[in-house]
Amino acid sequence: MMKRLILFFSLVTLCSCNSNAQKANEKVYKVNKTDAEWKAELSDLSYYVLRQAGTERAFSSVLNNNHDTGTYVCAACNTPLFKSEYKYDSGSGWPSFDREIKGNIEYSVDFKLGYGRSEELCATCGGHLGHVFDDGPKETTGNRHCINGAALKFIPKKDE
Ligand SMILES: [Zn+2]
Repeated sequence: MMKRLILFFSLVTLCSCNSNAQKANEKVYKVNKTDAEWKAELSDLSYYVLRQAGTERAFSSVLNNNHDTGTYVCAACNTPLFKSEYKYDSGSGWPSFDREIKGNIEYSVDFKLGYGRSEELCATCGGHLGHVFDDGPKETTGNRHCINGAALKFIPKKDE
């Protein structure tokens, strides 16, 4: 009986390892690192957001209130993703932009909350950034790119 149980549990472990491996192999990005490498490089919060598609607490990022001129790059691979001129205060508690830097962001759909949301990923490393909604500023694009500050690094214009 015990032997059978052990066999059962090792089968379960085996299966879950397999599905993780498959998931990681879905797409190869230009910047491609193992989970252990990302974990060692990123802060705990950035790892949680970028690599585990987590969401930081609203109003927790210093970038939410950042009004300086410059570029927001991916915290994992430094790809330029958003420009400060398209940042606006959405009141959501997350850094918000009405448009992205074209070509540097990839879109996919996630159903985590039970309905489809347009997920935004860094096109260079596949890191999760946030979501895009259609309740942005009407006078410009109408889009609200709702991005986790932990997924971004801000490069002030003078340092570019
Ligand atoms: Zn990236």
